[in-house]
This record gives sequence, structure tokens and C-alpha cells, in this order.
Amino acid sequence: MKSIVVVDEINKVYDSGTEALKSVSFDVKEGEIFGIIGVNGAGKSTLIRILTTMLRQSSGTCTVDGIDPSVAPESVRSLIGVLPQEAGMYEEFSIYENLKFIGQMQGLESNMLEDKINEVAGLLGVTDRLDTRISELSGGLKQRAMIARTLMGDPKLLFLDEPTTGLDVLVARKVRAIIRDLSKNMTIFLATHNMHEAYQLCSRVAILKEGEILMVDTPKQIFDDYKKGDQDFEDVIADILGIDEVDISVLEAEL
Ligand code: ADP
Repeated sequence: MKSIVVVDEINKVYDSGTEALKSVSFDVKEGEIFGIIGVNGAGKSTLIRILTTMLRQSSGTCTVDGIDPSVAPESVRSLIGVLPQEAGMYEEFSIYENLKFIGQMQGLESNMLEDKINEVAGLLGVTDRLDTRISELSGGLKQRAMIARTLMGDPKLLFLDEPTTGLDVLVARKVRAIIRDLSKNMTIFLATHNMHEAYQLCSRVAILKEGEILMVDTPKQIFDDYKKGDQDFEDVIADILGIDEVDISVLEAEL
């Protein structure tokens, strides 16, 4: 199967001296939901920022659909959708106005624009909320509106950075179902520190610790290879990452 992302020996050292990525290499096949899992500070966002043209690596190479983001950022941007960790919508405007704005920015003709807005709103189940202001939406609807926004440019590859963090359990389930649906038509690159989410959604995961990839495999293979006793997937990953249950509860408290 064709690789849509190829990362080869990427290093990133911030000006502060922090080594955020150390010799990171992996590839993502077309059609996968590929997960990057690791605790806060592992380097997930740094990696996403490099692949999505927001940041340059210190050394090493990467390509997105064969294109180097540092050489042809515009070409890469036309292929991808990015759901950042932080909200990127105009809060005082409606979902419709936000989608229209982004569509216009992407150069959609006005006759295409309405169709596209209706299509992505339908996919995310926000059609009857199109006229609601972002500031008036619940967390789950806001997240769905944000994902709708990332789809306006017909991405081949969608980057989702912690898409269910902060959402309540039922809403997170709904968002995961949507991600699974979307993956029928595009490749998805998912950063998460929710191990159950990674297990449920991802065809393969890369485990990132302090900037290094420890392993890349299917969640099931990792589980089968490393499971001790009655451990669940989160326990297995916690062991691999060398963090105990106390650390995990601290992490969850942060959410
Ligand atoms: P994650 O997304 O897994 O939480 P990040 O990529 O945000 O991890 O961070 C990886 C490491 O790089 C952390 O030690 C973080 O403090 C550091 N870092 C992130 N952004 C910057 C920045 N702009 N300048 C300096 N250090 C940074």
C-alpha cells in the first residue's frame, strides 16, 4: 500500500535547547488511522506541526504525499486538514459563517460553497445548528463544527490533535464514531494520550516517549506482545512508557 506520510530520521531541537524529537522515523499508509500516542510533552504536537508546515525540523526529512512540507508548504496545505488542540473558530460567528469564511479562503466558488457547507455539516451532524454561534455551542458540537471546518478543503489526510480531550464520555464516543466514518474516505493521523481511543480507532500506533519512537505496530499486536496478567491496553502502554498508575490519574485530572 502507498505511503502518504514518510518521516525519516527527524530531529527537532527548540531554541530553548529542548530536544522534542530524536531520530523519529515511520510511515503512514494511505487509508490508515495512524495514531501517535504518548503522554503530555512526548513530542506529538511538535511532530504534527512539522508535518503540517507550521514548524521546521532541525534535521532529517519528511514528505506528505511525496511533497516535502519545508520545500512546498502550500502544496502540502492543499492536501491536508488540521484540527488543532486549540480552538480556531470565530466564536461570535455562526457555524455557517465560519464554514463560509474558510471555504472562501480556500477559493471555493460561491456555487460550490453552499454545497460543500451542506455536505460537511451533514457529515458531522450539525446541519440544524448551522446558524448557531460557536460561543453558544456545547463542547461536543463545537468540536464537530471544528472538524467540519477541517473538511472544507477536501483533505486527503486529516490531522487530529487530541480530538476528544475535555469532552464527556458520550460526546467523545460520538466524535470517535465520526472519525471512524471519515476514515473511509481519507487517511487520518491521530495524536492522543487516550490509550483506549487509540486501541479502538487506530490501524497502527507509534508510541512516542520523550521525543523517541519506542515502537510502531497494530494496537492488538502490542497488546498481545506485552500484556501481563489481566492488564488492559492502558496498563500495557503505561508499562512500556514506564509510568505508573499514579501518573495516569494525574494526567486524567489535568483533563
Ligand atoms: P505533546 O504534544 O506530546 O504534549 P509537545 O510537542 O507539545 O508534546 O512538546 C514536546 C517537548 O517540546 C516538551 O518538552 C515541550 O515543553 C517542548 N516544547 C514544545 N513547544 C515548544 C516551544 N515552542 N519552545 C520550546 N519548547 C517547546
